Amino acid sequence: MRIKKLRKVLRVLSLSAYQNFELQNITNPLKTIGILTSGGDSPGMNAAIRAVVRTASAVGFKVIAFRHGYKGLIAGDSTPLGSSDVSNIIQRGGTILKSARCEEFRTPEGREKAAQVLEDKGIEALIVIGGDGTFQGASLIGKEHDISVVGIPATIDNDLVGSDETIGYDTALNTAMDAIDNIRDTADAHDRLFLVEVMGRDAGFIALETGIAGGAELILLPESLTNVKEVKNSLNDVLYDKRRSSLVVVAEGDETGGALKLSEKLRADFSKYEMRVCILGHVQRGGRPSARDRVLASRLGEAAIRALKDGHSQVMVGIVNNSMKITPLKMTFGKKKDINFELVELAKTLR
Ligand code: ATP
Repeated sequence: MRIKKLRKVLRVLSLSAYQNFELQNITNPLKTIGILTSGGDSPGMNAAIRAVVRTASAVGFKVIAFRHGYKGLIAGDSTPLGSSDVSNIIQRGGTILKSARCEEFRTPEGREKAAQVLEDKGIEALIVIGGDGTFQGASLIGKEHDISVVGIPATIDNDLVGSDETIGYDTALNTAMDAIDNIRDTADAHDRLFLVEVMGRDAGFIALETGIAGGAELILLPESLTNVKEVKNSLNDVLYDKRRSSLVVVAEGDETGGALKLSEKLRADFSKYEMRVCILGHVQRGGRPSARDRVLASRLGEAAIRALKDGHSQVMVGIVNNSMKITPLKMTFGKKKDINFELVELAKTLR
C-alpha cells in the first residue's frame, strides 16, 4: 500500500516537472500570436480564449486579439490581451471578442489584406476559434501567405472531424434537452403531438442525443433517410398503442425540410391530435457553458499554444478518446463526421 502511494507521488511529481520544463523552455522563436473567434458563437469560446491567453503568457508569447472574426482581422480592429483581461469570463456564453461572418475573407484579395495586417502588427501565428467555415478560411490564408494557423473547434453543431466533441456542443445539448422536458409537460397535459426542431445544420448530433435524453418517440436525422409514410406509421403505433402524447425531434437539416414542413405533410392524418411545432432556434446557441464545455475549451486552448510552440501549422487541436489529437486543418472540414449509429438503434429500441 505504501509503495503504491509512493509510486503515485513520484508519478505526479515527474509529470508536473515535465510540464514546467515544457512551459518554461521556449525553443520556438514565435513571439506574437493573433487570436479571433469566427462564425456562429458557441458557449465555451470565452473559456478557450482565456486558456490561450494564460498559456501564452506562461510560455512568453504576446497575444493580440481581433474583434468580430475575419472582419476585424481585415480591418485591423485589434487589442492586446493579457492574463488579467481574461479574468471572470470562463463562465460567460458568447464571445468577448465578438464574432461575425465575413464575405470579403472568402476572396483572395480579402485574405491578402488580412495577411498584411498580421505582418504590420508583427503577428507570426494565428489561432482561430470557430467551425468548419472558419477553418476553410484559415487553411487558405495559411497556405497563400505562409502563416502558421491553429484551429480550436467551437461550434454547437459538433460537425468537425478530429475531435469527439466541439466546444459548445454539450451546452447546446443540455439547453435543448431542458426545452424538450418543458414541452413534454405541455404535450402530456393536452395529449398533443409535438414536432420539435433542433439546430445542427446538416448534422444530426444535437437531434440524436437530445432525442434520446428527452425520451423522444421519433428522431429524424439528416444522416438517415426519412420516409414520411414510415413516420406516419410509427406515430400511429405510438399514439394508438400507448395512448399518450408524442414528441418528435427533427434535425433542422433533415430532408423533410424541418419541423414546419413535416407538420404540413402529417396534419391531415393526425387531425384528431393537436399538433404543435416548436422550433428551438437560437436559444440553443447561448447560455452559460456547461462544466464539460469549460474543461474542453481549457484543454484545447492550452493545446493550441503547445501545438504552435512545437512548430505545428495548419492544424486543428482536438480530443479523441480523451487524448489530445492534432489533425491537419484541411481534413477537419473535407469529410463528414459520422454519427454514432449504435445510438440511432438505441433510440429505436427505447421509443
Ligand atoms: P458555425 O459552424 O458555428 O456556423 P463556421 O465557422 O462554420 O461556424 P461560417 O459562417 O461557415 O461559420 O464561416 C465563418 C467565416 O469563415 C465566414 O464568414 C468567412 O469569412 C470564412 N469562410 C467560410 N468559408 C470560407 C471559404 N470557403 N473560404 C474562405 N473563407 C471562408
